[in-house]
Amino acid sequence: MRTTVLNNCDLLDGRGTPPQHGVDIIVEGNIVREIVPARPGDVYGTVDEILDATGKLVIPGVINNHTHGTAYGPLFPSGHEGLPHQRVLANLDRHLLEGTTTVLCADGFVTAEELARTDEAHPINVRLASCNTPACLQAATVADGGGLTEANRRFTARQAMDAGAVALGEIGAGHTLGGGGASYLYIPAAVEKRTGITITPRQANELKIAVLGRHISASAFDRDAVEEALAAAGLTGMLSVDDIRAIVSGIVLPAFDIALHGLAEAAELARKLDVPVLVHNAAASMTQVAAIAKTDVRLIAGHSNHSSFELREAVEHATRLKEMGSIVDVSTLDTFGARRLTTGPDLLYALLSAGLVDTISTDYAGGHHDPILLAIDRATKAGMVSLPAAIAMATANVADAIPGLAPRRGRVLPAAIADLTVTDPAALDRVWTVMIGGEIVVRDGRLSPPGRRPD
Ligand SMILES: [Zn+2]
Repeated sequence: MRTTVLNNCDLLDGRGTPPQHGVDIIVEGNIVREIVPARPGDVYGTVDEILDATGKLVIPGVINNHTHGTAYGPLFPSGHEGLPHQRVLANLDRHLLEGTTTVLCADGFVTAEELARTDEAHPINVRLASCNTPACLQAATVADGGGLTEANRRFTARQAMDAGAVALGEIGAGHTLGGGGASYLYIPAAVEKRTGITITPRQANELKIAVLGRHISASAFDRDAVEEALAAAGLTGMLSVDDIRAIVSGIVLPAFDIALHGLAEAAELARKLDVPVLVHNAAASMTQVAAIAKTDVRLIAGHSNHSSFELREAVEHATRLKEMGSIVDVSTLDTFGARRLTTGPDLLYALLSAGLVDTISTDYAGGHHDPILLAIDRATKAGMVSLPAAIAMATANVADAIPGLAPRRGRVLPAAIADLTVTDPAALDRVWTVMIGGEIVVRDGRLSPPGRRPD
């Protein structure tokens, strides 16, 4: 059995307690055998490998409960055409290089067979969530459905659970509930098709809000705001107010009520199946999400820092959800990097500093999500949350929130599975080494072995 020693590291074990300084972590086979005060390397004469981790911080491999584009098969809970396999593997590479060892694919219509093929092709643990309930399938079909094969349509949430899916989700999404998916995908595409002009996600978002408001309602239509948003997007004279109203409404509204109904339907099924349900929590769905939270379902309120919320609204809503026993998740989105949709970390920081956050995920953000460890690095440096607590939000808390997602993972303890991330404590997103099941899969910040396995 292969033995590897991480020599003389600091350790945050995922439990939220202060770091242990100067320890050796001895990994035997796929498990953590022992954690002991650091010894000189030559004590370990016969082991296979000793990694000098002096000055490095070891944490449990990050567990990400909200990803898209991480499995072969249809993309998003709108059943969008799937990404090419190489792109899926590249997405997984990126998660891995960011220190993530387990991802929950929340695309929702992926089959067990597609998931298994993905999981086999990549060292990351890829796990399945399903959103294939009647209303969610109908919402997807109305909103898009371009990537749904007969096999995807037939593979119900119940069957998915029997085949090893660990949660229902993502229920509702930016693509069916007039959120980010409409703003970065469908509205720009429709505008371009009509005018030849490419608009940014933020411009599309402003148009959407002007037509339907933050909470998505036909009655929120604001002609002046639409004119302003058209001008800001360089569309004055190309599209009339009524044109863009028809375009935006035509994209968002047909699926919207069906998708809202899907939230209640999925929560009911999750209760019956006794599995967690990950829901799209945003201004447009908050009333329905709060209604579900009142029941005894295990609810994960995804991306509770969604950019459609106003700050006070987000904090009050998350406070209520937490009081009702829900798990409050925040997503990194494109908060620190691309900022194509979010405008900065205000909502994230407000929820963290109010002590409302249970888990941190990435979501997709149009492919521009920031690394979880980058968000933790920034938030801890800004004094919003302690480092041990933040690491727990990305590891042990996630494993606890979704029991099937990462059993025996999420904490670095003797007998735990050796999914470990070794990083630079001065810049957490500078990931040095990643180990999955005792095997080193990232070395010196690069994939190991280099390159990708053939599909
Ligand atoms: Zn979402």
